[in-house]
Amino acid sequence: MDFTLSDEQRALQESVRQFARKELPEIAREIEAKDEPVSLALRQRYGQLGYLGINLDACYGGGGMSHFDAVLVLEEIAKISIAVAFPVFESCFGPCLAIAHFGNEALKQRILPRVCSGEAIVAVSMSEPNAGSALTDLTTRGRIEGDAIILNGTKRWCSGAGHSEAYVVYCRLDDKPGAAGIGAVLVEKGMPGLSFGKREHHMGFRGVTSADMYFEDVAVPQENIIVPAGGFGKLMDAFDLERCGNTTMSLAVAQSAFEYVLDYCQQRQQFGKPLIDFQAVQLQIAEMKMQLEAARLLLYRAVVNAESGLPSIAESSVAKCFANETVRTVTGKAMQLMGGYGYSKEFPLEQKLRDAWGWGIAGGAIDIQKINITSALVGRRFNQRK
Ligand SMILES: Cc1cc2nc3c(=O)[nH]c(=O)nc-3n(C[C@H](O)[C@H](O)[C@H](O)COP(=O)(O)OP(=O)(O)OC[C@H]3O[C@@H](n4cnc5c(N)ncnc54)[C@H](O)[C@@H]3O)c2cc1C
Repeated sequence: MDFTLSDEQRALQESVRQFARKELPEIAREIEAKDEPVSLALRQRYGQLGYLGINLDACYGGGGMSHFDAVLVLEEIAKISIAVAFPVFESCFGPCLAIAHFGNEALKQRILPRVCSGEAIVAVSMSEPNAGSALTDLTTRGRIEGDAIILNGTKRWCSGAGHSEAYVVYCRLDDKPGAAGIGAVLVEKGMPGLSFGKREHHMGFRGVTSADMYFEDVAVPQENIIVPAGGFGKLMDAFDLERCGNTTMSLAVAQSAFEYVLDYCQQRQQFGKPLIDFQAVQLQIAEMKMQLEAARLLLYRAVVNAESGLPSIAESSVAKCFANETVRTVTGKAMQLMGGYGYSKEFPLEQKLRDAWGWGIAGGAIDIQKINITSALVGRRFNQRK
């Protein structure tokens, strides 16, 4: 397995890095202060630069490149902040990939070019008040009536709720219990009967909106069915790629915290010498570096093995879990190494630590991923209900 970046990939990484360092820090600071989502203008700028849907087919406005390329782009932008990176995350790793892999041609033609230009963001709406880890307990129901699906139910914790132009909504499309009855439809903002609850506020993730979503007899055209009932497995296959996006966000936050603190430890002096000259500090730095390298290799393995298809549940779960734990550890250590300055809002570490924590809950809690890993190892699902 070769993870060496090609000359083109190195050039891509370098150009995104230059762009991100030059144009994004001020915008990221403003988003963090005001807790407002990325502007349409920035989304369109990403679209012009080709950063949205870089791994989607060129015939839908995408870059026709690999998931590995998408990882390189997302990491550089997410090192500035996860909020500025969110449109890139959604377009390259989010529910658009379920549309691209399983949606009908008309739906792909209608939605994906708008995503790649920055005009639209598609968010994923799976979780419900009583269906989080137990996702297959979801009760949002789509009743097929003539040419439409009449949707009723409540969703929770959707990242981008209210702000995004469209939502991939997991729902029951027939009466079969559990996973067998679940499919997904695309619901567009503005459809009569769709409304949003009050804005929820996480510990981190400022600038990424979250709210309950209410569906009251929302009439969705049949064309908007992404997968019919029985397609839950396909949705989870696409979600294996979402996990790689989650991994990239985790890695980017950890990597940027590490780079910041490595520099800080060489500048800050105590007892007449730089912090880096203390052996205990050297050990912390080395441990952070080892975890980062391992997280990066696990992520690269998952996306390189997927090529242009979808990664395996085993490799994407191992990568996500490891990166989710790494980002918590690395941002925690980095904050501690900065002493009072790490805990101060004047310095970037406290935001990074707050943003870090959420990734091990979003996209499936860490312990649920661990169950997936063992399940893949022994080749069978473990029934959590018996
Ligand atoms: C920042 C953030 C962004 C999110 N974005 C989205 C989004 O865009 N769209 C969306 O649909 N949802 C989103 N979510 C929701 C997320 O998917 C759920 O929070 C997650 O799946 C966990 O569900 P829950 O919160 O109901 O926790 P619960 O299911 O109540 O679980 C709580 C804890 O119990 C433990 N647990 C539960 N079941 C088991 C088990 N069988 N074995 C071992 N331990 C178990 C786990 O440790 C878990 O952390 C987001 C959440 C966060 C925090």
